[in-house]
Amino acid sequence: MKQAQAEQQVPKPVDETREVDFYNIAENRLKVFERDGYKCKYCAKQLTRFSATLDHIQPVSKGGTNTMDNLVTACLHCNSSRGSRPVMDAIKKNNAEQTAASDANKPVSNFL
Ligand SMILES: [Zn+2]
Repeated sequence: MKQAQAEQQVPKPVDETREVDFYNIAENRLKVFERDGYKCKYCAKQLTRFSATLDHIQPVSKGGTNTMDNLVTACLHCNSSRGSRPVMDAIKKNNAEQTAASDANKPVSNFL
């Protein structure tokens, strides 16, 4: 009996990219906030654990993961409500996004 149990305790291979989720696990979110000093990476506003949000550097839709390296602390303002940004900021951001989006949507032949 004891031998059989011991044999079953084979260490499981850990897929770190899957196991370490800093976006959905509250405890891990705090680690990102702490790394960034609870300051918004975009406007440097001092945040709290209640007002801080996480922003993906590379969007999940473009293959970004929930790893610590791909997440930054952002205030709600910078993270999601683009409509309330200063106009010039919104224009710059929108232009950058449109350029990236149109590049991604171009047929391959346009690159040749
Ligand atoms: Zn901000």
